[in-house]
Amino acid sequence: MVRDELFLDHEAPGYHPECPERLSAILGALDASPLGPRIRAFPARPATVAELERAHDGGYVRRALEVLSEGSGHFDPDTYFSPGSRAAALGAAGGCLDAAGALLRGEVGTVFGIVRPPGHHATRRAAMGFCIFNNIAVTTAGLLAAGLERVLIFDFDVHHGNGTQDIFWKDPRVLFVSCHLWPHYPGSGLPMEVGEGPGRGYTINVPFPHGTGNAEYRAVFEDLVEPLAQRFEPQAVLVSAGYDGHRDDPLGGLELDEDGYRMMGGRLRQIADRHAAGRLMFFLEGGYNLRALASSVVATLEGATEGAAAAEAVAPVPASEQHPRAREILGATVAVARQFWPGM
Ligand SMILES: [Zn+2]
Repeated sequence: MVRDELFLDHEAPGYHPECPERLSAILGALDASPLGPRIRAFPARPATVAELERAHDGGYVRRALEVLSEGSGHFDPDTYFSPGSRAAALGAAGGCLDAAGALLRGEVGTVFGIVRPPGHHATRRAAMGFCIFNNIAVTTAGLLAAGLERVLIFDFDVHHGNGTQDIFWKDPRVLFVSCHLWPHYPGSGLPMEVGEGPGRGYTINVPFPHGTGNAEYRAVFEDLVEPLAQRFEPQAVLVSAGYDGHRDDPLGGLELDEDGYRMMGGRLRQIADRHAAGRLMFFLEGGYNLRALASSVVATLEGATEGAAAAEAVAPVPASEQHPRAREILGATVAVARQFWPGM
């Protein structure tokens, strides 16, 4: 896992849900769990401008670094920075790149980037939604530069991963699948958003309604993610792991819980093992109830370690007993995906 004290130095001027205590809660729970002694830590390492420019516009990277050097302020009303933010933002992206390198070399099987600031709202040209540099996109671009040709990104944060979608919008080397609450911040992420040019069909969105939970997320894997992975055959599986979809999260509206995250960890492990030589990497995005966040990260990692057993952590529920509107929306997304992925 990527962990470093310097991620604690990214601090809001006043109360803000995206706070350093999030990491302390996660690390405390992980260290106390049976996984603790088995975890290898990768420290932060500043990403270089060239590494950032694989995912971000050069002009944006220069401006962002200038702004971060000012000490403290805001990129937008949501997205603050403090004197420690420059080192944290660069260190998050670079630390994740280093850990991904170890994943590629087969030195580790599962990586979790326990980093701040988060990344999935940062677009090619802008910081937004608590995010400055897009850690998962910078890492994906690094894997592509290292020779991989197909990367699957799955985003289960309650918010749409608009930044990641934007960065790989026209890129058929990256299959981006996001499940999120809709309508909700940032407003994008509808089934008809499918990518453009050679990237058409490589962006897949499931905009779930309030109240969607574990059973419908199990269905997402069975009806959408697993059939897509079979056809795309990813060489690495990267996950935007936000825990604001937990039923106890103050910014959410979904009904996921630890069993749901364990199930997703197990199923993502199976996909990585089947197609991607076991390469599976999680990136911390949201999650603002400290207790739920910490226990859900542990559940995800335990699931990703257990694989098949964890894949059944959520019992199957007949479609007729699932959230009717959620079923409808998943059906609509599967219908769109079938246009691009025949036989699904
Ligand atoms: Zn979020």
